[in-house]
Amino acid sequence: MSKGITSRSEDYSQWYNDLVIKADLAEYSAVRGCMVIKPYGYAIWERMQAILDKRFKETGHSNAYFPLFIPKSFFSKEASHVEGFATECAVVTHYRLKNDGNGNIIVDEEAKLEEELIVRPTSETIIWNTYRGWIESYRDLPILVNQWANVVRWEMRTRLFLRTAEFLWQEGHTAHATSEEAVAEAQQMLEVYAEFAEKTLAVPVIRGSKTESERFAGALDTYTIEALMQDGKALQAGTSHFLGQNFAKAFDVKFTSKEGKQEYVWATSWGVSTRLMGALIMAHSDDQGLVLPPKLAPIQVVIVPIFKTAEEKANIDAFVDNLNAELKAQGISVKYDDRDTQRPGFKFAEWELKGVPLRVAIGARDMQNGTVELARRDTQTKETVSQEGLGNHIVTLLDQIQDNIFQKALNFRDSHITEVNSYEEFKDVLENKGGFVSCHWDGTPETEKRVKEETKATTRCIPLDFAVEDGVCIFTGKPSKGRVLFAKAY
Ligand code: AMP
Repeated sequence: MSKGITSRSEDYSQWYNDLVIKADLAEYSAVRGCMVIKPYGYAIWERMQAILDKRFKETGHSNAYFPLFIPKSFFSKEASHVEGFATECAVVTHYRLKNDGNGNIIVDEEAKLEEELIVRPTSETIIWNTYRGWIESYRDLPILVNQWANVVRWEMRTRLFLRTAEFLWQEGHTAHATSEEAVAEAQQMLEVYAEFAEKTLAVPVIRGSKTESERFAGALDTYTIEALMQDGKALQAGTSHFLGQNFAKAFDVKFTSKEGKQEYVWATSWGVSTRLMGALIMAHSDDQGLVLPPKLAPIQVVIVPIFKTAEEKANIDAFVDNLNAELKAQGISVKYDDRDTQRPGFKFAEWELKGVPLRVAIGARDMQNGTVELARRDTQTKETVSQEGLGNHIVTLLDQIQDNIFQKALNFRDSHITEVNSYEEFKDVLENKGGFVSCHWDGTPETEKRVKEETKATTRCIPLDFAVEDGVCIFTGKPSKGRVLFAKAY
């Protein structure tokens, strides 16, 4: 059955778009750069939210909510921040429309805002303006707050989930008494993200810090997790920033230390977005559709009955009732697809497209033989197994599927980190193999800029396990202290 998905080898980018649409995850909207996230896509995002939210709370954070709008003057208080975001801000200038008398609805020029408002592209400014009122002494610290929200960045080249003008995310904003504590927080949250990516999304990531030119606007240090997609392009999957005292100074947020001194507060911020949906899709899926890791899949097991008579159906129903109860007791989410409006073959194709990790098919003959047919989405293999002990078998199988998906992505990633020692080799790997290229670089933004212009590759990160190694920059011949990772990226 053709599902109308372009194959990856034919056109990777079209494959991705087809998949997002056909698997019913999202669609384009009437607003340029903004998407509609459909129920199945949103269910996956909700799973991401639930698992991350639990981890945030376990690490001491609470959720709060701040306004969507930020007074323009707040933005200009932190110089590098405004510079970084200025080119992609949506600005609210008026608060009323009116009828022009000819039936046209127009902006009421008399309803001009005294101070224009920015639709938040990120919330450091409004939050640090608020924190000024929350912090007086060291006893008020740390503040460990997270917000789930939408943000707007007027991106020019948009892609469903990967880069949209409005996106959903969480942003953590913490305030600390010392630099050490803030750095530890930023690193801790990077590890929360890395673990989530690897254990739940089954996407291996490289933990690193960004070079100066790739840093978040206003950060002293940006930590990142970098994932590799099947087409050999990298994707920044999450970031955690050590902001130093930049925002505390811009918004005059001081505290009285234990020693009675007035000091500026130290800050972090960290975020992951609906871009993770893109990472998930591009890391695992195939030409048949989505491949979801069991730990994330909203539906982990789908059961499809195959019957001709009402009696056969009743027989299967009774068996499924028991199986369902057993699986639910083990915390597994099951869908019994007994729609009588579709044939089994159609259902198989649909759940395959939607990436459900495991399919159980049960026919009249299975009921006689005491068997079921299991089909794994990841390997597309089928086996006939006994109905006895089926619940436990499924639990084990789901774990195996999770491991297998991760291992496959890990093997691909590891075989796509290539050390090179000349610019020629660098270009050759980028062109013909893709993936991360590990090389010596002189540490300057000028060289990064030139390499980006010439090859489209950017520094992805300085890995956290960076090994000091004397060498020469492959682009300029200047001295280098170690290898960093470059790649073409989304
Ligand atoms: P930042 O605040 O720039 O560090 O970004 C925080 C998170 O949002 C990172 O994980 C980015 O990869 C992600 N992100 C940035 N811009 C977009 C966008 N236009 N669409 C979706 N996700 C984004």
